Amino acid sequence: MGLLEELSSKRIERRDFLKLCGAVTAAFSLPLTFQDHIASAAEQAMAKPRVIWLEGQDCAGCSESFLATMNPSVAELVLDTLSIRYHETIMGASGEVAEKALRDTMKEGGYILVVEGSIPKADDRFCLVGGKPFRETVMEVAENAALVIGAGSCAMYGGGIPGATPSMGGGVGEFVKNKPLINLPSCPVKPSRLVATVLYYLAAKKAPPLDSYNRPVAFYGSLIHDNCPRRGQFEKGNFLTDWNDPEQRGYCLLKKGCKGPKTYSDCAQVWWNEGASFCMNAGAPCAGCGQPEFYKEFSPLYANQETLGIGFGKSVNVDTAGAFVIGATAAGVAVHGIGRVIAGKGPDANKEDELG
Ligand code: SF4
Ligand code: SF4
Repeated sequence: MGLLEELSSKRIERRDFLKLCGAVTAAFSLPLTFQDHIASAAEQAMAKPRVIWLEGQDCAGCSESFLATMNPSVAELVLDTLSIRYHETIMGASGEVAEKALRDTMKEGGYILVVEGSIPKADDRFCLVGGKPFRETVMEVAENAALVIGAGSCAMYGGGIPGATPSMGGGVGEFVKNKPLINLPSCPVKPSRLVATVLYYLAAKKAPPLDSYNRPVAFYGSLIHDNCPRRGQFEKGNFLTDWNDPEQRGYCLLKKGCKGPKTYSDCAQVWWNEGASFCMNAGAPCAGCGQPEFYKEFSPLYANQETLGIGFGKSVNVDTAGAFVIGATAAGVAVHGIGRVIAGKGPDANKEDELG
């Protein structure tokens, strides 16, 4: 079945598909003409690019996040087009049959390797798959991969929950060298980032611009604090101290542990769960789940963050705060678009009356 027929069978209009391609183009600040390359890459994706998905020290939360796209959507279509040859949680095969599927795909080469979970550095008494230490499996499978993606914070830093004391794991970058590596940290991985990254790679045949942690700058280039809908309350000095006080609804969550001022992520512009919401919108402080400090150095998660010194002792200028919010919103437009399109709907960001 061709792409157009596939779109039609899922009641997705071609117009929406092209909007997704346009949003990916905008998110990565590419020239408008690149949209055609993205569209053509996605059409070729119907030939099903092969994916090997390995799980190490993980909770399978990133797999859940990846699979839990809502109702038929453009994102689901793109994810459906991937040929997942090996994935311990979802594959029907097991034992020797599963290991053979892995070996056959490795022989073919040129696949995308996704690693979820951290990788034990030395101790070979646990995290054995097929009797082999996970560390060795990752290095072996990476050899013939065209691209390696570290999905989620555990895979990127060896951190996350498995990285809490005592930490025995490492991130993909510590074991895989001389391969294009893209890290997509957060807990769990954010599906819209995975979709956009895979589409970009299929079209450009290379990784998008990355920061020093190999994270796409398009998703990790700005502080959450700079785009947060509660930023106006921060500037006014309104900090939530009592969850039960209705008067404090929508107040800044810094005193309740918010790590937004230390976290680089597009969460405030591109909401989670297909544009449904994100942490601060739902009343929860940012845990900094995509940062290297998560979880260990950011715990306890609900500790007052005012010792960071952010905003305290600063005079409040409501006019400046308002101008700031407008500026931040404009700066976030490029990445904002992709979440709206992937979701088929989108957040009306910075509406304080919607805050929990
Ligand atoms: S809730 Fe967090 S990110 Fe938002 S303004 Fe307050 S400190 Fe910044
Ligand atoms: S707002 Fe913070 S805790 Fe929530 S998903 Fe984004 S980075 Fe993670």
